[in-house]
Amino acid sequence: MRRVAVIGAGVAGLCYAERLLSSGGCSVEVVEREDAPGGLARTFKTEGFLFDVGPHRFHTSDAAVQSYVLDVLGKNVSCIPRASSVYLAGRYMTWPLSLEGVLRLPPHILLPSAFELLARRRTSSSSFADDVISKYGRNLYRHFFRDYTAKFTGLPPESLHVDWASAGIDRAVIDKRVKADNLMALLRGLLLPRPVSTSFIYPSEGGIASFASCLARRIESMGGRILLGRSATGAIVEDGRCRGASLDDGSAIESDEVAWSAPVSILDPAAGLEYMSTVLYLVGLRNRLHNNYQWCYFGSRAICFSRLTVPRHFSESMVPPGADSLIVEVSCREGDDLWNDPASLVPRVIEDLERVSAASPGDVLFVRPVRIRNTYPIYSLDYRERLAGIVPPAGLRLLGRCGTFWYNNMDHSIAQALAQAGGGDVPRDFWTDGRA
Ligand SMILES: Cc1cc2nc3c(=O)[nH]c(=O)nc-3n(C[C@H](O)[C@H](O)[C@H](O)COP(=O)(O)OP(=O)(O)OC[C@H]3O[C@@H](n4cnc5c(N)ncnc54)[C@H](O)[C@@H]3O)c2cc1C
Repeated sequence: MRRVAVIGAGVAGLCYAERLLSSGGCSVEVVEREDAPGGLARTFKTEGFLFDVGPHRFHTSDAAVQSYVLDVLGKNVSCIPRASSVYLAGRYMTWPLSLEGVLRLPPHILLPSAFELLARRRTSSSSFADDVISKYGRNLYRHFFRDYTAKFTGLPPESLHVDWASAGIDRAVIDKRVKADNLMALLRGLLLPRPVSTSFIYPSEGGIASFASCLARRIESMGGRILLGRSATGAIVEDGRCRGASLDDGSAIESDEVAWSAPVSILDPAAGLEYMSTVLYLVGLRNRLHNNYQWCYFGSRAICFSRLTVPRHFSESMVPPGADSLIVEVSCREGDDLWNDPASLVPRVIEDLERVSAASPGDVLFVRPVRIRNTYPIYSLDYRERLAGIVPPAGLRLLGRCGTFWYNNMDHSIAQALAQAGGGDVPRDFWTDGRA
C-alpha cells in the first residue's frame, strides 16, 4: 500500500484523496486545520441560517469536472440562472457588464468610455493597471476597476501582476460583445442585442459545503481518515525525498507521498509569497429582501465592503421561512487591525448596507463576523519568479488554490485533483493564453 498524506481538506485535497482511494492501492490520511472539511467552500450554520464563504457556485466547461460534481452531489443539485450585479455610480447594473448596461452608464462615464472603446489599441502589459487600461480604457478603469481593486487588495493596482486581471476579470467579466476589438464587431453587437445568460450548479440543500461533506463521507467509507483541527507545520524531507509531514502538536505523519494543498508559503516562507484574508459579516434579516441579484460588487471606497451575496438566491434552504440574509465581504490581511478586531466594523457595515439600499437597520437580526484565512494569493509583479523558486522535493506534490498559489475556482481545483490522481496535471487557465 502506498501511504499518502493529504494536507488540507478543501475541494482539492478531498477530491484527490477520494480519487486515490477509489482507484485502490493507497492508504490516505487527510489533515485539516479547521474543525470542518470544505476549505474556502465551506458553509457556516447559525440560528437556522446557512452562509457560504461569499458566493460559491459550480460553473465549468470541463465535461469531466461537471460529471464528477454531479456524481458527488447526486440528487442534491439545482441548476440556477446567474444574476450578478455591480453597484456603479450609485446604481445597480448587471454584471458581467453588458452592452445594454454600458449604454445605461451616466454620460460622464459613457461618452469618454465609448470613445476609448473605439479608439483603443491593445498593447502588451505587465501590470494589472496597464492591462485593464489597454482593454477597457482609462475612464472605466478610473470609475470602477482602480478603486475596486485598491479596496479589494489593499494594494495599488500598478503593483499587481497582469495575471490578477486574467484570473479575476477575464474569466467572467465582460460580455463578449463589449470586448469586441473592432468597430464592426461593436456595431454588430449594437444591432443584434442578445442577452448573455449563464447558469450554474448549486446544491439544492445544505449550502456549498454539501459537496465537501459528500466527499468526506466517501473517503471515510473507503477507509481514509480525516483529522480535523490539526495543522501541518512543514514537510519532512530526508535524503532529498519527502517522507511525511510534521504537525502542530509535535507529532508527524509518515508517508510515501504528501499532497500539499495548504499555503505553499508554510513550506517556504523565504519565497515571500503572501495571501489576502477576508472578514465575512454574516447578516441575518427579519424580512425578505427585494434585491434580485445573487451577488453584487461595490467598487466605491466610500462603501466598506467589496461584495454582497444573497444566499436565498442560491437556495431557499439557506434561510428560515420568511427571513433573509446577506454575506458581506471585507478584505484584510491576517494580523491587521480588522483581522484582530472584526467586530469593530459591525456598525459601519450596517450603515453601508442602508446607504446602498441593501437592507435597513431595523431588519437586522444579527451580524456575525467570521475570519477566513488565505482567501486570495497576492499576485505581486514578481510573483512568478518567487513561485518558480519553490522546487518541491520528490514525493511532495503541490495541489489546489493555496498549494499552487493559483487564483482559481473550485472547478480548477477539482480538475487539478482529478488529473494529479491520474498521474498528470493541468496548467492554470491564465498561463496558457499566450502571454505566459
Ligand atoms: C469569497 C470567495 C468566493 C468564491 N466563489 C467561487 C465560486 O463561485 N465558484 C468557484 O468555483 N470558486 C469560487 N471560489 C474559489 C474556491 O473557493 C476555491 O477555488 C476552492 O475552494 C479552492 O479549494 P482548494 O482545496 O484548492 O483550497 P482551499 O479551499 O483553500 O483548501 C485548503 C485547505 O487547507 C487547510 N489548511 C490550511 N493550512 C493548513 C495547515 N497548515 N494544515 C492543515 N490544513 C491546512 C485549509 O483550512 C483548507 O481547508 C471563491 C473563493 C472565495 C474566497
